[in-house]
Amino acid sequence: MSAISSLIISAPSGTGKTTILNRLFEIFPEKFSFSVSATTRKKREGEEDGKHYYFISEEEFKERILQGDFLEYENVYEGLFYGTLKSETERINSEGRIAVFDVDVKGGINIKTQLKDNAFALFIMPPSVEELKKRLVNRKTEDENSLQQRLLRAEMEISYAEKFDNVVVNDDLEKAVSECKKLIEEKFAL
Ligand code: ADP
Ligand code: 5GP
Repeated sequence: MSAISSLIISAPSGTGKTTILNRLFEIFPEKFSFSVSATTRKKREGEEDGKHYYFISEEEFKERILQGDFLEYENVYEGLFYGTLKSETERINSEGRIAVFDVDVKGGINIKTQLKDNAFALFIMPPSVEELKKRLVNRKTEDENSLQQRLLRAEMEISYAEKFDNVVVNDDLEKAVSECKKLIEEKFAL
């Protein structure tokens, strides 16, 4: 395996990051493992505890902050915490796989600052904020308040793009997957 052992991937919510990641996991089976974050947000339909997130209470989240269990954590949306557990990197490293951090932009840059050249930081850019809104509405997972919070945050998140190692625009999905695949082959010598 190359020296780079982690992939950090960030995008404004609704850009298509999960869709792209699922495709990359199919293209590179058994090379990557998803770092499962802890969150205080409610489970969406189809999500599984321990697979998509560790769904925990705010009380437990705060307790784990005090215990020093997080590599990083953010109050991503008002009242909702998301954090990368140190135990996840240990688990993935021991499997000899590349850890994938699917985190918000601040968390992504925080992890990049800690891991430096051991991590490749990739930003997925939506074609426009209007298209982002359409995708979030079509996904039918957010209520009006949560939709507005995600859109409000998108501008700030886009302004972080230049801090990442590379940016891929997700306009045409196939083109975006192919660009990500090429970058990953290069960076991780796959
Ligand atoms: P994220 O993980 O970034 O929040 P998702 O992967 O859940 O985003 O994608 C948001 C929605 O947009 C989903 O309904 C998905 O099917 C759709 N989507 C993803 N990529 C594209 C694309 N290139 N063009 C149109 N719709 C897309
Ligand atoms: P969602 O609620 O749509 O699953 O995720 C909302 C946002 O939280 C996304 O931008 C996602 O990348 C981010 N996120 C998920 N896990 C973490 C984490 O562990 N740390 C940080 N900083 N952000 C996270």
